[in-house]
Amino acid sequence: MSAAGLQALEAALVTRGFVYLGPSGEQLEAFEGSLPAAGAQHQVKLTVDMTGLEPPRVVVKIPAGAPKILAHIGGGGYLCYAAKGTLVLDVFNLPGQVLSCVDRAAAILDLSLRGQMVQDLEEEFFVFWGGDPCFLDVASTDIAGLSLLFFSDKGLAFVSGNPQRTEKKLKALNFTLPPNFEGSVAFAVTTTANPRPLQENWPPRTVADVLRWQQELDPAAAREIERQLLKASIGRKSPALCVVKAPRMQYAFWADVHGGVKLSPAKALASARAYMLSAKVHTMWAMRIDDEYVSQRNTPNRPTLAGKRIALVGCGTIGGFLAELLVKAGAGLGRGELLLVDPDTLMPHNVGRHRLGLNYALQNKATGLRTELLLGAPTANIRDLPVRVQDAELGHLDLLIDATGEEALSHLLTRAADAGSFTPTLTAWIEGPGVAVRTLLRDSGSHACTRCLGDHARTPLFPATTEELPSEFAGHGCESIYVPFPATVSVQAACLAAEAVSDWLGGVTSPRLRTRITRSGFTQGTADRDVPRREACPACTT
Ligand SMILES: [Zn+2]
Repeated sequence: MSAAGLQALEAALVTRGFVYLGPSGEQLEAFEGSLPAAGAQHQVKLTVDMTGLEPPRVVVKIPAGAPKILAHIGGGGYLCYAAKGTLVLDVFNLPGQVLSCVDRAAAILDLSLRGQMVQDLEEEFFVFWGGDPCFLDVASTDIAGLSLLFFSDKGLAFVSGNPQRTEKKLKALNFTLPPNFEGSVAFAVTTTANPRPLQENWPPRTVADVLRWQQELDPAAAREIERQLLKASIGRKSPALCVVKAPRMQYAFWADVHGGVKLSPAKALASARAYMLSAKVHTMWAMRIDDEYVSQRNTPNRPTLAGKRIALVGCGTIGGFLAELLVKAGAGLGRGELLLVDPDTLMPHNVGRHRLGLNYALQNKATGLRTELLLGAPTANIRDLPVRVQDAELGHLDLLIDATGEEALSHLLTRAADAGSFTPTLTAWIEGPGVAVRTLLRDSGSHACTRCLGDHARTPLFPATTEELPSEFAGHGCESIYVPFPATVSVQAACLAAEAVSDWLGGVTSPRLRTRITRSGFTQGTADRDVPRREACPACTT
């Protein structure tokens, strides 16, 4: 930032009574002044990022006698006047930007000191609660009680509704199941009240503090927390972790509620209760990591592939990338299953455009892909069928995805899909040497199959491109002739297919034929559309 830039900023801030203090770090300049709020002037320090990328930092001197917890005012007087990313900053008008931030900070400070933003304290609860992470791996289908997998050395905890399942996740995280987790206890209490911090005696230090606080929020929840902790104390369970399920958030804490105290039978209940009440409370920040939540948090209110039985035929260049996207969308989770079908071996020269690398070369593609996907999604139910699809026992499917890129095989699959009960089928392929990618959804017998896209002489009726497709081959000798195109084309084919699957899940089937041009110089020959089946089609004739 030039000296002129600093001068312009200083001139602007002088109009609000601020004085320049000096540099405060790399590209940071500090100012001092005061903001009017709640009928008085409050001294503030303003630190301006001269690049204009970060809003100015405002630290306010809290007046004596003000409540200990104020909305939007964090530790040390740091004033949160705008959530990161909600302000549009103009890097070419730094003085104007800083002045509008100062005005906004004054308005927020005024409301906070007047106690008019108490509701916001619910939103900001975690700022005041703090603590170590507590990961919740609890599925809606879990029927057993909760288990606590506690890693005191790492300062984190896993609460599980199924320790066998969570163990798989821990292995992926390079953790091993703690041997003594059965001596600990976890429980969840549902409350109607969203938490907000108390103005005094915060954060709670003992179980007694927590119970007093909960009593103000929701007496029924307070009673249940007390009952569960007392049970843990008498049962000599340690640590005891409580998850509080509030309407808009979950939070947790743990305590050692028995402390190894020997209880004389006559006074057992009274002494267990006394010890429990005095036990130190450790606040925890709760985060859901159950499969259902993780697979749907990026597509809220949309169905996922969890619970569906899906076969992906062809684990080559399209299928490899597509399998990964399907697992991200929930395939193989819940009671679902993802079948990977491919008889081929991944050769070292395939890895230039395959999802798998050299570490899986000379292995079957379906088997290697399953191993790779389970590293990152250890609880997914994925089965590899390293055989030709004609020889695979697929059973009932919700969706069959053909990513083989082999036209003749697609026609055969159409016959198979029509036999017995109809199986919805999605075909994904690449046109020519990476010129376009296409998908065709056949969700009922009245819609076109891939063979219906050409006439009796197999001349395209719905060409992908206006221009003629070039014919390009590479390689030497008939054994290794291949059509060259880069991995970027396969990734786009996989994306187009994954989008079609996502739409189909949400009940959107049209347009069933979709095309994306992937090479410059070509234009799309057929707009995305539905295609009726061709009466004389030999593949889908019933
Ligand atoms: Zn057909």
